[in-house]
Amino acid sequence: MTTHCLLCQSTNIEPHACGMFKCRECLYFFLGVDERDAQQATFIPTKDGKVNEAKLTALKKKYPKDGHGKRGLYERYAKRYHDLFGNDVRALDIGASGGFFLHELEKLGASPAHVRALEIEPDYKQLTYDYFGYESDLDNIEEYRPIDPATGSTQTYHVIGLFDVLEHVHHFDTALARIADMLELGGRVVFKLPARRWAYAKYRVMRALGADDKIPVVLYIEPGGHLNYWDTDNIKRLEAIEPRLKLVETHYLKPTWEQFGARGWWRYLLYGANQILPIRLFPEFVAEFEKKR
Ligand SMILES: [Zn+2]
Repeated sequence: MTTHCLLCQSTNIEPHACGMFKCRECLYFFLGVDERDAQQATFIPTKDGKVNEAKLTALKKKYPKDGHGKRGLYERYAKRYHDLFGNDVRALDIGASGGFFLHELEKLGASPAHVRALEIEPDYKQLTYDYFGYESDLDNIEEYRPIDPATGSTQTYHVIGLFDVLEHVHHFDTALARIADMLELGGRVVFKLPARRWAYAKYRVMRALGADDKIPVVLYIEPGGHLNYWDTDNIKRLEAIEPRLKLVETHYLKPTWEQFGARGWWRYLLYGANQILPIRLFPEFVAEFEKKR
């Protein structure tokens, strides 16, 4: 049973359609506990699973090696972290979708031996290997404890990326602890996330139209789908969940022509409007945390 907010622990929560809840204190919008369990039950890591060739082919079509829409975003953060940590940077991409972020780091001078991916499906692991030759581990972030063979202690990284990942993670408190374990002091973790206000607005529109059957579609309530909706106003509360992490910055994600082209016209307009007016409504945002020194 869902009795309290999974972000701020308040019991002042309101139930919504399709098993969703909204916290009146911190505004976190989330799938209830029972529904999370049910959704995740069908989404267990297949550590020894074989690659499904048909799925791998589909992934290569979805994330073409020479036309990744999010390249601009990966490039921006790779530059930022290469500036901070130099050529010796060690990076882990959780849910790497082909390894594009790691590849941007390598292009700047990072050693391919120092970048790694974590996946929960063998097809994604194979995709990253086929594209760039990077190794991946297969595990769930909540359980992942990589050991450095040289020292026998936890493998650490300067940079951990979770692009479009944390919204899918059931026990995000455990995941944040694992991430903090793996980060060097002063290391950074960057999250790209779908924004709560946007998701909630879509949800309210569907409710108003009486289109409840569309709610699971607009909120991605499906096995392996979205469980958590934060926004730039409450993501800082993750600091209370994992006190070793400190928010460095958070902002809406600037849309690029490369990703959206002409069909992104409304995103450019909305993004621009958000820069000059306190609309605070946009589909996606980025939040970056530092492990306290
Ligand atoms: Zn709350």
